[in-house]
Amino acid sequence: MREDHGPNLLLYSLSELRPSEARRKFRQSIFEDYLLRGPHGQAACAYCGKWHERLTLDHIVAKSKGGPHYARWNSVPACFSCNSSKSNLGLFEWWRPQRFWSQEREEALMTWVYVQSFVSAHTIEGQTKGAMDGKE
Ligand SMILES: [Zn+2]
Repeated sequence: MREDHGPNLLLYSLSELRPSEARRKFRQSIFEDYLLRGPHGQAACAYCGKWHERLTLDHIVAKSKGGPHYARWNSVPACFSCNSSKSNLGLFEWWRPQRFWSQEREEALMTWVYVQSFVSAHTIEGQTKGAMDGKE
C-alpha cells in the first residue's frame, strides 16, 4: 500500500477498514492535522487551547442541528469540558462569551472549516469515480 497522507488516500483507506478502526483513524487524523497545537506540538482543544487533557472529537455543528457526523470540516479536537459545555448550542453563541475565547483560535477554526470543506468538495467526486471503476 502506498504511503500517502493526502485526503484522497485517507478516504480511500478508511473505506477499506472495519467501522471501529475507521472511526479511530478518522479521530486520529483530526488530532494530527488540526492547526492549533500545544507548546510541544501536541493536539490541543480547538476552543480553549488545553492540550494536557484527554481530547474528544467535537462536532462544530451539532448532529441535532444537522451537522454531518464524519466530515472533517465539522470535526475538531475538544477537551471534555468544552465538548460537554458546548453541548447542542450554536458555536458562536456558546464560544464567544467564554473567557478562553480568542480571535486566534476562532481564526484557526474558521480556516479549518474552509480548507476542509474545500478539500472534500474536490476529492469526493474522484473517490466515487475510482470506486465505480473498481480500480485499486
Ligand atoms: Zn477546551
